[in-house]
Amino acid sequence: MIQNVQILPRNETHWQDNEWKKLLSGAIESPKELLSILDLADSELAKQIDPNQKFSQRVPTPFIKKMEKGNPQDPLLLQVLPIQDENIKTDGFVADPLDEASALHKTGMSGLLHKYQSRVLFMLATHCAVNCRYCFRREFPYQENRASKSDWSKLGHYLSEHPEINEVIISGGDPLAVNDSYLTDFVRFIERFPQVIRLRIHTRLPVVIPQRITSSLLNLSQSRLQMVMVLHVNHPNEIDAKLIKACQLLSDNGFHLLNQSVLLQGINDNVDTLSKLSEKLFSAKVTPYYLHLLDQVQGAAHFNIEHDQAKSLYKNLQRRLAGFLVPKMVQEVAGEPNKTLII
Ligand SMILES: *Cc1c(COP(=O)(O)O)cnc(C)c1O
Ligand code: SF4
Repeated sequence: MIQNVQILPRNETHWQDNEWKKLLSGAIESPKELLSILDLADSELAKQIDPNQKFSQRVPTPFIKKMEKGNPQDPLLLQVLPIQDENIKTDGFVADPLDEASALHKTGMSGLLHKYQSRVLFMLATHCAVNCRYCFRREFPYQENRASKSDWSKLGHYLSEHPEINEVIISGGDPLAVNDSYLTDFVRFIERFPQVIRLRIHTRLPVVIPQRITSSLLNLSQSRLQMVMVLHVNHPNEIDAKLIKACQLLSDNGFHLLNQSVLLQGINDNVDTLSKLSEKLFSAKVTPYYLHLLDQVQGAAHFNIEHDQAKSLYKNLQRRLAGFLVPKMVQEVAGEPNKTLII
């Protein structure tokens, strides 16, 4: 019998593993350099930068490419550029607004949070590809909460003791900042617990480096666990052809895609921007999930939107969009058994 051996061309549509790693290590850390790439070295904005922030600048070049040159108000730039306003102390804005320190204490395990009944959140990585200025974990003591592979048995023990948990959420930092082989080992580990039916990945990495969606990452969906990926996109300009391709690959490979955004002053605090964001996300097969009110973290007060303003904006958004395009507007309130709906 003659075997018809077909030699498939190497699939050039897939990104190679070394590509995202190069982009990750090449992230721009100097605010001056970032402004100069954007032709803003001599702008008023240049006088406002603060290169000495402890929570340093970090932004990969694929995200910079989505910014508009010469625009000091660019909504992507304002999310990543450290400015002096971050040093303003504002009443009510604290280092750990969600009281994660005591939540971590409750599970007794580094990096493990069990705030909501049926799901645990595990910090698989302690760093991100991008440092978002409004991040509620900007002051988080990651070094004290570093969980390594040898700690997974503790996680396993915790799952066995809590049969009500049916979903494991990996977060960070950014869980996609670790290698595919590490992620694969983690999936194999979680698969051993029959009570767990879903693995959820909370990540911003594909948004700032779409090349992160490698074929070995896509293979994670070869699992009995249902894979959910929650992206973090705040503005429609973050969605370019590369991110659309990444979402297409994820969707084709069985990942269920959702998005969470943060409502940010001067970035997406208007109905036009938020409508466009939802429409673009959905076209890319991503369902809008949450629109978070800002967590009151020290250094981010200049991004805050008051509740009343947020509510009226939300009403207008509901009027404008199909129901399934309207994310739930929520706030995380320390000690509550779920995210709090703002309506
Ligand atoms: C937000 C969050 C979750 C997930 O909540 P969902 O409402 O299911 O998206 C789980 N654990 C922690 C600690 C969280 O902050
Ligand atoms: S990617 Fe997420 S966790 Fe990382 S800095 Fe941005 S908001 Fe924070």
